[in-house]
Amino acid sequence: MSRKPVVGVLALQGDVREHLATLSALGAEAVTVRRPEELAAVDALVVPGGESTTMAKLAARFGLLEPLRAAVAGGRPVYGSCAGMIMLADRLLDAPADQVTIGGLDVTVRRNAFGRQVDSFESQVEIEGVAGGPVRAVFIRAPWVEEAGEGVQVLGRVVGGAADGRIVAVRQGNLVATSFHPELTGDRRVHALFVDIVRRHLAERAGVAGEEKGQPS
Ligand code: GLN
Repeated sequence: MSRKPVVGVLALQGDVREHLATLSALGAEAVTVRRPEELAAVDALVVPGGESTTMAKLAARFGLLEPLRAAVAGGRPVYGSCAGMIMLADRLLDAPADQVTIGGLDVTVRRNAFGRQVDSFESQVEIEGVAGGPVRAVFIRAPWVEEAGEGVQVLGRVVGGAADGRIVAVRQGNLVATSFHPELTGDRRVHALFVDIVRRHLAERAGVAGEEKGQPS
């Protein structure tokens, strides 16, 4: 029997509660993460939407930045939505010169990319790996992926309007990021995709541990 995945939500700032509720509804044990010890105890992490400059400063102040980078480098699954996408990006545009990120996603992300006049809007976005039709995507002062490296899988793009074709959902290994906020719509399919990645990651790790002990995996 596989155990319940423990998924943390980085709770420095932003819309933490909605992610916790969505993850719990999907059968994960959802916990808040504010300290390095709490990060060490989770199988995977969600970095929520909010304000990425504030979140980055708080992460540094709480001594979380390096542990977060180490978790990503070690293959821990992380899902970032909106500000969380910015936090996972290797490169930023329209950000203060001193804004730091966790990094790990080989993408260039433009902050507040949709422009001030479209502070927030909704769109229907087809997401690769999400069955059952397009996801209702809520964008709030959202970033987009301006450029994605070769190893990055584009999962979704805006269709129509001024932002037509812009990349708003990506995956690279165990990292997933969306420009929009699926936690605000009651549609759990993007989180389900992530929890599935977490479950596979745990099963793989259990398999490796079993082999090391000489058990059949
Ligand atoms: N504009 C915000 C930032 O740069 C992100 C907005 C959001 O997460 N809803 O951090």
